[in-house]
Amino acid sequence: MMVGRFLLAAAMTLLVVQGTADTPPRIAIIIDDLGYHFEAGRRAIDLPGPVAYAVLPATPSGQRLARIAHERGKEVLLHLPLQSVDHSGPAEPGALMLDMSRTIFQAAFADAIAAVPYAVGVSSHRGSLLTRHPGHMGWLMEAIRRREDLFFIDSYTTHESIALQIAAETGVTAIRRDVFLDHDRATEAVVRELDRLKAMAHKRGTAVAIGHPFPETLEVLERELPKLREQGFELVSISELIAMQLNRI
Ligand SMILES: [Zn+2]
Repeated sequence: MMVGRFLLAAAMTLLVVQGTADTPPRIAIIIDDLGYHFEAGRRAIDLPGPVAYAVLPATPSGQRLARIAHERGKEVLLHLPLQSVDHSGPAEPGALMLDMSRTIFQAAFADAIAAVPYAVGVSSHRGSLLTRHPGHMGWLMEAIRRREDLFFIDSYTTHESIALQIAAETGVTAIRRDVFLDHDRATEAVVRELDRLKAMAHKRGTAVAIGHPFPETLEVLERELPKLREQGFELVSISELIAMQLNRI
């Protein structure tokens, strides 16, 4: 019985290994911070392929852009503002803050998820302070888990983020982004980061990038995304990529 089970497991492993050898490296791209500038958001939604759009909840055009993206068959994420360490500017509207009580925190989450129709997941906006705090991250993951189908993407704005660990403890499906395409928004820098993304996907099988609706980023993606297939990569939706990373298929 033990031997039989082992052989079965070995055969399944072989199938999985063969499967990965035959499948191209997969890439998923999320465009963050949609909601303030309608035209830039529209242009981003026009990018070819299953790109995802992370929409800020308390913004003038967020709902409208989420609807347009969904109608175009694209995936929508709630881009949830979380308090960052940087105190230089006002907090993002709708942000979850460290000084909120559990009740207020969860009500703020409920408002945010209600503000972004069709969201299939939640990604973090800023959050270099809040994603380090186990108590608040626990509240957040509990709120996400209650919505059953939602997953979480850690934008990973600090290496001290414990979001993935808390998500795992709470039973929430979660992954971390690998590359920021436009931390430096100069065209050459975006091209360089896109190359780094491809190298990572090649090495590991999958890779996730985040970009913003900057003209430079959109221009590079408009030009480069249609070439991915002939370069041997497959652009997949973020939920497909998560399923692949978790199941290693
Ligand atoms: Zn953001």
